Amino acid sequence: MIVVKSPEEIEVMRECGSILQEVLATVRNAVRAGICTRALDELVGAEMKRRRVIASFKGYQGFPASVCVSINDEVVHGIPGARMVREGDVVSIDLGVYHRGFHTDAALTVGVGMIGDEAAHLIEVTRGALAEGLRHVRSGNYVGDVSQAIERYVESAGLSVVREYTGHGVGRELHEEPQVPNFGGGGKGPQLRPGMTLAIEPMVTAGDWRTRVASNKWTVLTVDGSLSAHFEHSVAVTDDEPLVFA
Ligand code: MG
Repeated sequence: MIVVKSPEEIEVMRECGSILQEVLATVRNAVRAGICTRALDELVGAEMKRRRVIASFKGYQGFPASVCVSINDEVVHGIPGARMVREGDVVSIDLGVYHRGFHTDAALTVGVGMIGDEAAHLIEVTRGALAEGLRHVRSGNYVGDVSQAIERYVESAGLSVVREYTGHGVGRELHEEPQVPNFGGGGKGPQLRPGMTLAIEPMVTAGDWRTRVASNKWTVLTVDGSLSAHFEHSVAVTDDEPLVFA
């Protein structure tokens, strides 16, 4: 069932999202060569505690950390640990905040220091794909319109969209209906209505779209070892442009 939020609920999600934006910006600024990914997780924990909010991901289906840090051929769900960030890495940070009964979810990818042309192109296209998807998030459109826009944008740039993981509704639950795939045909799926709240999140690879899950049962990697990037906003559908929470 797709849950449409009231204006009061949207307001709480807006507050939740602004906290998420602050924490995400702090983590992004901390990503540099030589930092251990566990230190990024500790930073998130401290920033959330200070703001009296809860990390949506911690303990979610047993996920052991507050933030997902996915590097290079890791697509999503990377677990922070002893790994060091290195010059030239492509680092995706995915973060969820739970505040006053609601979740918001957002992600971004940064290049560390001097990155290659392929990595720079990948990051730019993935960021652009999220913007392109959001242009189609509007009351009266269909979920498939968003999916199609993202897929076309990515494939016309010579890159691939991941198919095994999708965007989703977000609100009282971290993952609500509907699923928002990053591929598919326009005019399909549920119709968008004001008050629907969605996490739109293109996951893009520089090679094949197929993925595998690492032996830690969490980290998702590209099967062919190609680089991957991920951008995500949580938004509310309106009659006009979507309201971006984070
Ligand atoms: Mg998400």
